[in-house]
Amino acid sequence: MTTHTGRHFLQIPGPTNVPDRVLRAMSAPTIDHRGPEFSALTLRVLEAVKTVFATTGPVVIYPASGTGAWEAALVNTLDPGGRVLCFETGHFATLWQDMARSLGLVVDFVPGDWRHGVDPGSVQDKLAADTSHTVKAVCVVHNETSTGVTSRIADIRRAIDAAGHPALLLVDTVSSLGSIDYRHDEWGVDVTVAGSQKGLMLPPGLGFNAVSAKALEASRTTSHPKSFWDWKPVIEANKRGFFPCTPATNLLYGLDAALQMLLAEGLAQVFHRHARHARATRAAVRAWGLEVLCADEREYSGSLTAVLMPEGHDADEVRKIILERFDMSLGAGLGKLTGRIFRIGHLGHLNDLSLAGTLAGVQMGLELAGVPTDPSGVNAALDVLRSP
Ligand SMILES: *Cc1c(COP(=O)(O)O)cnc(C)c1O
Repeated sequence: MTTHTGRHFLQIPGPTNVPDRVLRAMSAPTIDHRGPEFSALTLRVLEAVKTVFATTGPVVIYPASGTGAWEAALVNTLDPGGRVLCFETGHFATLWQDMARSLGLVVDFVPGDWRHGVDPGSVQDKLAADTSHTVKAVCVVHNETSTGVTSRIADIRRAIDAAGHPALLLVDTVSSLGSIDYRHDEWGVDVTVAGSQKGLMLPPGLGFNAVSAKALEASRTTSHPKSFWDWKPVIEANKRGFFPCTPATNLLYGLDAALQMLLAEGLAQVFHRHARHARATRAAVRAWGLEVLCADEREYSGSLTAVLMPEGHDADEVRKIILERFDMSLGAGLGKLTGRIFRIGHLGHLNDLSLAGTLAGVQMGLELAGVPTDPSGVNAALDVLRSP
């Protein structure tokens, strides 16, 4: 076993690198979650987090992973047997619709090729055909982490409106919030699902639902069984700065620090930084002579880039060499993309030189694995990074 020195490069698309400032904030002693100090923290965090979702409405925080926040979005807004419209953009969209089925919902799953986002035209056609309004919600994964494809939520909103359909819009932003431009209120999203461990630069363990007035209204009349996930007691307790059950106290300290960092940098700059790092990464991939999985330039992800392997080469073999030799973790191909792609995470706490180091490791790994590549990839990325 090789002894590695320096820091491990965690370049998977979540969990992401946690800044030292956030780790230090989390190392403070745990306090009484029913005391005044905690109440002040909760009220501050619940206010600041709204800015990241671009909403003025409530944001419900659970001690849970993103999967829990998926479930909360469904059980609060739908009746048992309710119909939902989902789109096969990749592995995460598939898992979310699997969950919907296991919760007893009826899913209309529109097939996809895992290289494109949700087609707004298809949303409009499906909803226009549903003249009796049996579809109660449209579920979209904003940034499909398994493919590096970002769906265009504003266009999907317009498609729903053009069809004149009242369905709720539920959006998974687990790997886009705090990395890719996102506007809960402006885009008329009803529930935004998020998690702590990706763009928010925290360890795993917090799940989020940003909730529109329409979704809150639906939660008062729908009858899906729920208890832990019920928004209402959380929103009620949050008014005084508390939670119905024990919150993840130290993760909330971390969230407080992470939000301060994101807002100090400015969300516009955060989005620009991610888009620029994504552009540099694509420049490297193309110079290597390899293909980016995302097939539509309007849908390139700012959070991660999925790289297609040439025929006859195994992506997991490349990842294994890179981990052993250079102490860097890259994302694996998931589901039907296993072995066919690897994913470079470039979201969260990252700067130009960390990205350059990441791409240097990928380039050497490809060479060592015997994948035919042009060694000009890193230089192509540096050409992008040289300008701000
Ligand atoms: C990571 C991720 C999830 C799952 O979140 P967990 O925290 O692993 O439960 C869901 N959706 C997307 C798009 C993700 O990237």
